[in-house]
Amino acid sequence: MKILVAVKRAIDYNVKARPKADGSAVDLANVKMSMNPFDEIAVEEAIRIQEAGNASETIAVSIGPKQCQETLRTAMAMGVDRGILVETDEEIQPLAAAKVLKAVIEKEQPELVLLGKQAIDDDSNQTGQMLAALLGWPQGTFACGVALADGGLEVRREIDGGIQTVKLKLPAVVTSDLRLNEPRYVKLPNIMKAKKKPLDTLTVDELGVDVTPRLTLLKAAEPPARQGGIKVPDVATLVDKLRNEAKVI
Ligand code: AMP
Repeated sequence: MKILVAVKRAIDYNVKARPKADGSAVDLANVKMSMNPFDEIAVEEAIRIQEAGNASETIAVSIGPKQCQETLRTAMAMGVDRGILVETDEEIQPLAAAKVLKAVIEKEQPELVLLGKQAIDDDSNQTGQMLAALLGWPQGTFACGVALADGGLEVRREIDGGIQTVKLKLPAVVTSDLRLNEPRYVKLPNIMKAKKKPLDTLTVDELGVDVTPRLTLLKAAEPPARQGGIKVPDVATLVDKLRNEAKVI
């Protein structure tokens, strides 16, 4: 089985995102960028399936500017066999990402496609679902467990109030949730080895995909500053304030 994993270069999860002064977008100037954390989990899962002897090849794909090569090298240092960069300086929204991934999948013919459940920059949680719909493939989203079973996949999904288990036929799309696994640390020798792994570059035009943005960002703003709390002397005052000031009871 060949596995393809989508890895997005996103603002690092430790960085506090700030809007640009004109409020037109999040300010990414001089901001640390890393692999989207849910994609690290997806990469880890692909490697584990391969290490268990159930995958012949693992491929990471990233769509974005030249710097996405770093993201692909990280995936390769974790253990993925090779990388594909679909290089573009255009803004790539979820529908465009899904269309580009579909074109790469048609070339590469993987049986399993892993993505993160969401990218922490746009928090869209759309690409995996759109990709499965465009391909007409089954999907297991919010996965917290993936097991090969009866020539297909058994995916445990995190849903409100519990876990749902679904059986999927291959080929399939799976998106990773936080508890699927704990990604490994990348070791220095593997970073060196990753530099020698193949990294191909394609363009959006070569793939014949229209990536024109369909959504317009109207405004990026800080959340309103929170007001400080107060201490109340007793329960009666608390109830009074909840009823008459906050009007929540
Ligand atoms: P989103 O729908 O934007 O929340 O993204 C969900 C997932 O789709 C991410 O975790 C990635 O696995 C994948 N994805 C989205 N955009 C890209 C991109 N530009 N390059 C590679 N993968 C992407």
